[in-house]
Amino acid sequence: MSSRLQYLDEMGIEVYVRRGAAQPHEQPGPATQPHEQPSAEAAPSEWGSLECEVKSCTSCELHAGRTQTVFGVGDRNADWLFIGEAPGFEEDRQGEPFVGRAGQLLDRMLSGGLGLDRQHRVYIANTVKCRPPDNRNPRPEELAACSGYLHRQIALIKPRIIIALGGVAANALLQTELPVGRLRGRVYRFGEGDVPLVVTYHPAYLLRSPGQKKAAWADLQLAQRTVNEEAT
Ligand code: URA
Repeated sequence: MSSRLQYLDEMGIEVYVRRGAAQPHEQPGPATQPHEQPSAEAAPSEWGSLECEVKSCTSCELHAGRTQTVFGVGDRNADWLFIGEAPGFEEDRQGEPFVGRAGQLLDRMLSGGLGLDRQHRVYIANTVKCRPPDNRNPRPEELAACSGYLHRQIALIKPRIIIALGGVAANALLQTELPVGRLRGRVYRFGEGDVPLVVTYHPAYLLRSPGQKKAAWADLQLAQRTVNEEAT
């Protein structure tokens, strides 16, 4: 089975393929051209200084328990920006977001659902850059202390779309306390650039509640349609 069909199967989507017919989106490729921007090399000093500031940050209590900061990973010229909650045990150890089980599901959502991977046209970051103890949710003061870093990342990347993964990211970005179930299913606009923003379930939640994978699939399709529409 192709990785896309495997993914659709895992997401609970039934796909009927006529014998001899091309498999759906066998080679999804980019549905739109990557956005044309000066390359990330155009702003190396801004990225460099932002990364240095994050590395040495002591603005909230979380710095005390970290092994290292988890800045973000991917294409600094990305079209798609995925924002999760906070580093967990593995992320704190490896210095990269979403490298545990939830991250593996996210990778499958990227490749099977969108034909993307974490190095190409995608950037992955978190609302906070240091691991909260015992994997608790980041506290309001921790989110506030870190939000400037995330906002600067967004301004540098200039993504075509932001996907908020889970309630912590959605609530922080949209400044609301509504649950994901109430926020998903529509397109919001973020920041001065009016970047389209779609909310979906956190991959860790999807691992616990696989029945919601269909909804997450619909969210990714909404995001893909939005990217395509904005490109025309
Ligand atoms: N969950 C998140 O929200 N972010 C990570 O980096 C890992 C797990």
